[in-house]
Amino acid sequence: MSARLEINLRKIHHNAHILVQRLSVHGISVTGITKATLGSPAIAEVFQSAGVTMLGDSRIENIEKMKEANVSAPMSLIRSPMLSQINRIVEFADTSFNTELEIIKALSCAAKLVGRTHGIVLMVELGDLREGIMPCDVEAMVRSVIKLPNIEFKGIGANLACRNGVIPDDKNMAELSTLANSIDNTFGITMSIVSGGNSSNLEWVFRGSTTKGKESAARAGATKGTGRINNLRLGEAILLGRNPLDREPIKDLYTDGFNLVGEVIEFKFKPSKPWGEMAQAAFGTPPPIRNQGDIQQVLLAIGEQDTDTDGLTPSSGYEMLGASSDHIILNAKENSITIGDEISFGMNYSALLRSMTSPFVNKVMEE
Ligand SMILES: *Cc1c(COP(=O)(O)O)cnc(C)c1O
Repeated sequence: MSARLEINLRKIHHNAHILVQRLSVHGISVTGITKATLGSPAIAEVFQSAGVTMLGDSRIENIEKMKEANVSAPMSLIRSPMLSQINRIVEFADTSFNTELEIIKALSCAAKLVGRTHGIVLMVELGDLREGIMPCDVEAMVRSVIKLPNIEFKGIGANLACRNGVIPDDKNMAELSTLANSIDNTFGITMSIVSGGNSSNLEWVFRGSTTKGKESAARAGATKGTGRINNLRLGEAILLGRNPLDREPIKDLYTDGFNLVGEVIEFKFKPSKPWGEMAQAAFGTPPPIRNQGDIQQVLLAIGEQDTDTDGLTPSSGYEMLGASSDHIILNAKENSITIGDEISFGMNYSALLRSMTSPFVNKVMEE
């Protein structure tokens, strides 16, 4: 069998269930983010059975795929809609995250035409400088949005730690809560969603529940308020069990729900140091080579077209030496290998994303 991504649904369910439970203590619901799974209906079902109340994806294509597979959870498009996709978005997504009035007006028109109501979450800029309305402009935006036909203003949200790595903390989360209160007061409403952020918000909620220790801090943190924040959008934490701020494992979660497996196509005793005059390689200047003398070099039939090879961790005993479009090169060290053997790798978010979206990688779901 060719390159494959083994997906352990039981481990993903476990991770989702634990996070849903831990957050519910704080009155926070979970939107399961499916974008790294290419909108996998099987994974969406697992999220739902673990207690996730909504699903979110950045791509309408993925949302369509899940809806067509009869996934029943409410769907949010978590990237601002493209004007060129408005009709599809109104048809398949219940809610979308928005920052531009022009786009919301187009959603309103399209929703009116087909007799639907489309939910709007307004994203607020809190410093990471990706999407978001500047906080001082949110009130005026809400004033315009609530007047639009076939549009339901659902609430506000923010996203940090994606472009610039700005950490969610008491200060920026309090700013979002204060804004929610002031908008509710101004318009005499109670917005239903205040979506504080993504997996990188977990540490702010739990105050140190990663395996780095600090469990007493986590307990103390449990009494500390999370303000108006009543929703988080979780992808990486559920799928890979890690805190994106430092990529440390989150306590009691599986970090090996996904494994990439490649097949050995060459195994030879070779020098570790290249010879001949050298220029750039396929992907620019390769990192300097450590001369280890002769080694047992393994060639695997997976490469950059199948995954982000920088995001792979080989099973123990193997050393990653390099990669190109179609190959990974390992030092087998003491391992005995035969042609056709399989070697498996742990994956980070980037490797997972690329493998899920590669047509060359077979996705194999395991219960
Ligand atoms: C990708 C994304 C998420 C999920 O991020 P994770 O770090 O995987 O939890 C949440 N919100 C938005 C807007 C996103 O684009």
